[in-house]
Amino acid sequence: MDPKLLKFAEQSAPRYTSYPTAPHFDTAVDGAVFARWLGELPGDASLSLYLHTPYCKQMCWYCGCHAFAAKRDEPIAEFVEALLVEIDRVADAAAARRVTEIHWGGGTPNILSPARFAAIADHLDQRFDLFSLERHAVEIDPRILTEAHAEAFAAAGVNRVSLGVQDLDERVQQGIGRIQPFETVRHAVDMLREAGIEALSFDLMYGLPHQTRDSVRETAERAASLSPARFSVFGYAHVPWFKTRQKLMDEHALPGAAARFELADTLRETLQAAGYVTIGYDHYARPDDPIAIAARQGGLARNFQGFVETQPDALIGLGPSAISTLPQGYAQNEAEVGAWRTAIMSGGLATKRGKALSADDVHRRALIMRLLCDFELDLQSFGGLEAFAAELAELAPLAKDGLVVVEGARIVIPDAARPFARLVAQAFDAYRDVGAARHSRAV
Ligand code: SF4
Repeated sequence: MDPKLLKFAEQSAPRYTSYPTAPHFDTAVDGAVFARWLGELPGDASLSLYLHTPYCKQMCWYCGCHAFAAKRDEPIAEFVEALLVEIDRVADAAAARRVTEIHWGGGTPNILSPARFAAIADHLDQRFDLFSLERHAVEIDPRILTEAHAEAFAAAGVNRVSLGVQDLDERVQQGIGRIQPFETVRHAVDMLREAGIEALSFDLMYGLPHQTRDSVRETAERAASLSPARFSVFGYAHVPWFKTRQKLMDEHALPGAAARFELADTLRETLQAAGYVTIGYDHYARPDDPIAIAARQGGLARNFQGFVETQPDALIGLGPSAISTLPQGYAQNEAEVGAWRTAIMSGGLATKRGKALSADDVHRRALIMRLLCDFELDLQSFGGLEAFAAELAELAPLAKDGLVVVEGARIVIPDAARPFARLVAQAFDAYRDVGAARHSRAV
């Protein structure tokens, strides 16, 4: 790694899956506000539904998701009961019905039995219009996938499945508390393809204990040998003050900033050599995949699922901690499962906090998203140079070291600097010095 870039790799920056980012949400947005926003949606608005399952069979030590281990069936049954009621409440409040996307995340959606999954999918079908449904995606843990799950997914119209793979090296797996042999992943892939689900995506991770350039290269090569359509490559975010289970990992075995950069670079090289093209800065896809086509045509978008090929008019989050994105702003559910369930079962919505968007928020959000999706933008389209004098001054040190090129009103992030794109975007974040938010490393 170029030594002059090291100081940038050590800096932290938000992931910008939303703007303003979640640490800047406040309690002014409650269930009544969210219900009003849902009621104000245009009748023909396209909807994306996100369903958050908060449980996993066991916890991986690196996990930064909002998830808990479920040792018994009872909490899962109670979660499903409340989720069905929440679907009713949201459907009653929303003025729009047309769903174009459904995404099941977590936690582990396939901790739900196939029968429960089918019951929830049926309920969505009863309460919303799924006639225009284009994308129906489920995140799974390959270790607990069964043939019956794959068949239930296919019967519900699921057409994309993401598999948590992370790393295939045995020593790394021991270091992160997630033992998942390659054969387990291969078997899950076979079951899904047998059920007719071809669009598969693998999640890989760098920055984990004991990873080396050789080990991540081997992981990527073995994973690519199964020919998924996409890869998402995430940098492990070590935030033990926030996710205390991360204290189980050996901090001394974690790679430093320069090593993290090299691991990410090795994954990029290996996946590109296997025929995948880079999407944004952390997704990879086969050139004929819809997200690769969208990226080529300048149609990439970014939301809580990372880089995506389409952006419906509203994203409605269901389940504990789920975040909705409506034209008026963001609304986040109670994160604690018991509090979420109590709010739903006592007759209301479970909104805990959120952010009503100002005109400046909407403006800066569009600018930041275009910068992260296209790696270039023309400030003339966002009000001109004068409006961003302070931001341009902030970019000067990044420009000096080649992370960004500023030519008049045109801002370009060179290909080699894409891993640092979030630092460039941060210069346009009006909230960056507000509050005590702590973010993950830029690389
Ligand atoms: S990484 Fe996935 S399977 Fe592991 S604890 Fe987190 S949500 Fe659950």
